[in-house]
Amino acid sequence: MERVGAKCRLLLAVGAWLLLLAGLGPPILHPVPPVAAQAAPIRVPILAYHAVDASASTYSVTAEQLDEQCRWLVENGYTAITLGQFWAAVTEGAVLPPNPVLLTNDDGWSSTVLFAEILARYGMVGTYFVNNTSPLPPDQIAALSLRGGVHAHTASHANLTGLAYEGQLAEIAGNKTHIEQITGQPVTFLAWPFGETNEGAVQAAAAAGIVGAFGLGGTAAQVGALDPYRIPRIIVGSSDDLASFATKVAWH
Ligand SMILES: [Zn+2]
Repeated sequence: MERVGAKCRLLLAVGAWLLLLAGLGPPILHPVPPVAAQAAPIRVPILAYHAVDASASTYSVTAEQLDEQCRWLVENGYTAITLGQFWAAVTEGAVLPPNPVLLTNDDGWSSTVLFAEILARYGMVGTYFVNNTSPLPPDQIAALSLRGGVHAHTASHANLTGLAYEGQLAEIAGNKTHIEQITGQPVTFLAWPFGETNEGAVQAAAAAGIVGAFGLGGTAAQVGALDPYRIPRIIVGSSDDLASFATKVAWH
């Protein structure tokens, strides 16, 4: 053993000298692993809107509020991204524009058309989560799919936590098929009605082909630190003036 060890040491020494002569430096060092720069996680405020009206509901905004919010976003350097862009960043590390923001709209109220028109004034796209019970005619739902995208919100806006698995699956799959038939586009995302979900609903969504799902409430999404079936959204409602809106977008 000792002789074999000595022979090995001799070979190593010869090898080291050969490398030194070749200008490669000593072969045995204590390498310091490169310290990867810890990039700050990319923050994407995902805004959750509902109806556009003057009802002063917690979940609605007036057309004037939405218009000034869109203007504020543009003037402050935000870029409305599509859900596809967001997901490419989450799953593939795709680069997002500076100050990305995702504007979402739930329920498919008839005022959703006005919502899309106001966004279009500022060159912005939206993401629409629509139930089978939406009053929007199919051609308007199809038009929304060209202004960002239309995704699932369950067939009847059911609180999925009150259903057994088969019911959860029927609500999600029936809605997904309904929208896909109207838009001709794959439906792979969902917003939980009332923001409510549970483990069975997540499994049902995954079984139906949903890859990501959004809650209702919370702070900005941190790309790289997301539960794909519980992605937070920031609620915007009638009580938001421009100052509170700006705070939500920039800091929450
Ligand atoms: Zn809803």
